[in-house]
Formats: sequence, structure tokens, C-alpha cells
Amino acid sequence: MGVADRALVRLLPAVPRAVVQRLSAPYIAGPTLGDARRRVADLNSAGMLATVDVLGEEVRRAAEAEAVASMYHAALDAIAGDRLNANVSVKLTALGLEIDLDLCRSLLATVVADAAARGIFVRIDMEHSGCTDDTLRIYRELRDAGRENVGIVLQSCLRRTLADVGDLADLRPSVRLCKGIYVEPSAIAYQGREAIRDNFVQILDALLELGCYAAVATHDEWLLERTLERVGGLGRDAYELQMLLGVHEQRAAELAAAGHRLRVYVPYGDRWYEYSLRRLQENPALAGMLAKAAVLRVVPGRP
Ligand SMILES: Cc1cc2nc3c(=O)[nH]c(=O)nc-3n(C[C@H](O)[C@H](O)[C@H](O)COP(=O)(O)OP(=O)(O)OC[C@H]3O[C@@H](n4cnc5c(N)ncnc54)[C@H](O)[C@@H]3O)c2cc1C
Repeated sequence: MGVADRALVRLLPAVPRAVVQRLSAPYIAGPTLGDARRRVADLNSAGMLATVDVLGEEVRRAAEAEAVASMYHAALDAIAGDRLNANVSVKLTALGLEIDLDLCRSLLATVVADAAARGIFVRIDMEHSGCTDDTLRIYRELRDAGRENVGIVLQSCLRRTLADVGDLADLRPSVRLCKGIYVEPSAIAYQGREAIRDNFVQILDALLELGCYAAVATHDEWLLERTLERVGGLGRDAYELQMLLGVHEQRAAELAAAGHRLRVYVPYGDRWYEYSLRRLQENPALAGMLAKAAVLRVVPGRP
């Protein structure tokens, strides 16, 4: 990312919420579960799988975390009821990780139990580095308690991740591997694109060596090529590729048409702001989008 891009990203929080909402609309299914259901059904019809995320990070009170958990139960009900080919992705901060660890544990346990009863898988998203230890611990507790329908996410930007793979090896975890979106200090995280890519490939090799199910989440064509080289000899059920709603959709469709399991991350809900900022900060067209939004704001009568 160049100096000008970094300056733009710093300005993002100053952009009016209505503009952020408009620019980020392609990344979000919509405010309601009905929106997510329709989007997942469309993806399934196009030969793709989905993972449904209830937007709800930054919760401040137990009641909000409980409300997010209820939305997950409703999402599981909808996935099962509509026979959608989808699982769910959960952010532990949305279930109260940063307000009450035990509350988070018990809300997640009920979501995972509900999902298990319906034959649905739960992926625990990985958030900023302050959450990594607790997230990995809670994942291990669930697996130790006999839950098999749960998986984790690992981030290749973190220096610790290869060691985490070693620590998790006995569980043969299902892992979503991504670069990691949170801004982390250089003491704990690689900063350069090449170092993050190299670590990604090393982690992927380690996961495949252990016989783990690897869900490779990237839009980076260089990494996709390295991944396809590696999974070439594996069965279709040994791995999947993942992309975000609204990003490189044509490429996602091509990969699905070529026979890969391709899962799209489908967020929905009315707490869209933080997720939207993160997506916009990664959009290479950010400068153009902001310029266009500014023009639309000063030219009256434009839609
Ligand atoms: C399914 C999925 C789940 C994820 N879960 C997590 C998680 O749990 N924790 C976490 O920290 N991170 C998560 N991420 C985000 C991930 O860590 C990266 O920040 C993100 O995927 C961008 O990295 P990249 O590998 O696609 O490579 P990049 O080099 O960032 O992107 C490659 C290309 O993709 C395109 N692109 C990427 N993002 C956008 C965008 N927003 N808008 C338009 N074009 C874009 C651009 O053309 C860019 O050049 C997830 C990503 C995916 C795909």
C-alpha cells in the first residue's frame, strides 16, 4: 500500500456513515436474515457454498452478545429450513469475548450445539491479536468436549502462526487460512507483502502435511496459484477456497466452475459499520470511490 493509500485509509473514519454504507453495499447481503437467505440461495444456484456471518462486533453489553447469539440460532434455523449449502462464521467479540469470557464460552457452546444438531459447521473467525490466545483456547475446549463441527481461522501476518499450527496438530483442525486484516505491530506481525505471502505458503504446507482440512481464503492471484499447485492431487473434499461477498466475484465463479469447492463469506445485519471500514480499506479503488462519493455529495439531485 502506497503512502497516498495509507493516508486515505486513515481518513476513512471521518467519512460520513451514509457514504460508507453506500460504498460498502456490495460487501454485505443486507440488514435482514431474509437478505442473507436470498443471497446464499443465489450462490448455491451458481454452484457456490456460503458462510453466513451475523454482523455484530464491538458489542458492549451482555444483552447485545445474547442478541447476536439469538441471530445465529435464527440463521441456523434458516439454513436448515431452506436446505441451504452453508455454514456460519462467528466473531467471538460479537458473543462478548471482551466483556465476559464465560458468557462468550457459553453462548458459543449453545450455537455450536444447535449447529451440530442440524449438521451445520461453525467457523470461529480470528480477530485482532489481543483475541488470539482466548480464541484458540475456546476452540480447543470445544474440541476437547467432543465437538467436531467447529473450525478455526489462522492469519499468515502473525509471526506466531506456524507455531500455533504445531500446537493445534493433535486436533487436526479445520483451518481457514487468511492473511489477516487487523493492523498489528511489527514485533508480532510481518508487515511486507512478500513475508506475509511466504508465511501463508509455509502454513498451508504445514496444514496439508498434517492432513488438516484447509479453507484457503484469499483473492491474491499469486497465492491462489500456489494453492492450486498444492491441492491439485487432493480430493475435492480435502480443501476449499473462500472469498468475500462483493470481491472478485467473477474469479470465484470461474474457480467453482472449474470444480473447486468455493465458499463465499456472506455478512448480514444492521451493525455493518466496522466490517465496512475494513473492506473499504482493502479496496484498491478506494480513492476513486471516495472521489465519486464526494462529487455525488456536492452535485445536488444525483442518486
Ligand atoms: C472468506 C474470508 C474470510 C476471512 N476471514 C478473516 C478472519 O477471520 N480474520 C481476518 O483477520 N481476516 C479475514 N479475512 C480477510 C483476510 O485476512 C484479508 O485481509 C483479505 O482477504 C485480503 O487479503 P487477500 O489475501 O485477498 O490479498 P490482497 O492482496 O489484500 O488482495 C488481493 C486482491 O483482491 C482484491 N481485493 C481484496 N480485498 C478487496 C476489497 N475489499 N474490495 C475490492 N477488492 C479487494 C484486490 O484486487 C487485491 O489486489 C477473510 C478473508 C476471506 C476471503
